[in-house]
Amino acid sequence: MLKYIVYCRKSTDEKNKQLLSIESQIAELKEFAIRERLTIVDIVTESKTAKQPGREKFDQVLEKIEQGTANGILSWHPDRLARNSIDGGRIVYLLDRKLLLDLKFPAFWFQNTPQGKFMLNIAFSQSKYYIDNLSQNVKRGMRQKIRRGEWPGKAPYGYLNNRQNKTIEIDLTKSKIISKAFHLFSTDKYSFTQLSLFMAEQGITKGNGQPVSINQIRRILSNKFYIGILTYKGELHKGNHQCFINKKLFDRVQKVLERKSRARTQGLHFAFFTGLATCGECGAGITAEQHIKYYKGTNRVAKYVYYRCTKKKGVCSQKYLSQTNLVSQLRQTIKSCSLHPNWKPYINTWIKEKMDEEKSKVKAKLKTATNRLSAIDQKLSKLLDLFLEDNLDKSIYQTKQNNLFEQKQKLEEKIKQIQHKGSSWLEPLKEFLRCTILAHKIAHKKSALNELRPILKNIGSNFTLLDKRLFLNLNFAYATLATNGRAACAPKTENDFSLLVTPRGIEPRLPG
Ligand SMILES: [Zn+2]
Repeated sequence: MLKYIVYCRKSTDEKNKQLLSIESQIAELKEFAIRERLTIVDIVTESKTAKQPGREKFDQVLEKIEQGTANGILSWHPDRLARNSIDGGRIVYLLDRKLLLDLKFPAFWFQNTPQGKFMLNIAFSQSKYYIDNLSQNVKRGMRQKIRRGEWPGKAPYGYLNNRQNKTIEIDLTKSKIISKAFHLFSTDKYSFTQLSLFMAEQGITKGNGQPVSINQIRRILSNKFYIGILTYKGELHKGNHQCFINKKLFDRVQKVLERKSRARTQGLHFAFFTGLATCGECGAGITAEQHIKYYKGTNRVAKYVYYRCTKKKGVCSQKYLSQTNLVSQLRQTIKSCSLHPNWKPYINTWIKEKMDEEKSKVKAKLKTATNRLSAIDQKLSKLLDLFLEDNLDKSIYQTKQNNLFEQKQKLEEKIKQIQHKGSSWLEPLKEFLRCTILAHKIAHKKSALNELRPILKNIGSNFTLLDKRLFLNLNFAYATLATNGRAACAPKTENDFSLLVTPRGIEPRLPG
């Protein structure tokens, strides 16, 4: 017999109002369990984020599954269970070992089949997008502030945040230094570093007392805030703060900046991988370097790009890695976990099948619900007839009528839910598959270094270089494609697709 543990979670970082509170999750799940005739052995609630592994109650649930106290989990949506690939992997691993036999979610389709597990992987790893949406909501409030001409963040150098009336005012001393810095730079005789040192001498530094970085200098000099314009997500808005830099000076500075950046991009366009990876030996960052070699014999100059550990964390024995070598490893990695474009027709067929299945399920559910609704309406009108014909006592009439009304409301709510839910789970799947096919195409292209970077960020994390080899943690859905080794090749038969999405032999990397 299947024994389910109910797991409910809502953490404080989830400000989304559409998310059910823990209490309503419990109520909904209990109702769901009655409807589906599920046996519940335990109810566990937790208010902690699932973005990182390490939740006490969640661990207890998995322990109980290991011990055989329960063999099913009932939760509102996969994102209640896991929003990081490690916890997601642990659940799939329990399914693989048949310790966990079923998962039920009112808001998500799951079947304990290869395809079902694949979908689950996607639901766990795509929650990243969900987190992005969340911060979108917070940003909405900021946008409104900007429309009113107020800057919602920290005041730029030379200005002060007035905490009382929540405005931004000119800092009388520091604004003079910033103004001087603009003037110096506009002469085109100062480098970013010189400017940063000048500002430090005058008393403008980072919070820790260090001179501001070159990138910050660049941002200061190009910040339109200084000429009264607020830039937010590419939109420009007029600010109501006072300015101490005039437009003419600002424009001269922009010209110098442009010239400098042209010179810079010619030298540094290769650094697409830096900032993404760390050294596998010491944990310091990876940096790029260009070496120019002159060949006397052929009178030729060749440029070589190398990646190496910055060694900022102390002694480290790691050697250089050439860009050619690194890029070929990166392309190989992307290829191994992405889909050959020839999979497209098979995938489309499969998705269409699932969509049709889902549609007919929704249709059937809607039919039952609307039938019940009209039955209630009939009862209501009969009741009214009885009352009007004086065959019913007023108090009895009212109780019965209220009761029916309540049922009707619940049913209407349910119909709305069914219509809304539909085949929503297929959309993230389609998007995921579209991305992996695109990734595969880009990995094969010769000259697209800057296109590799966003793909890399999507497929995995913890990029490290160790002894000239690249290591990373693939996100779970990509890891599923990679383990089979079949995804990157053209498919042979239609059945291949279900084999492809079978998450076989992946053991999750446990923390610690
Ligand atoms: Zn190192």
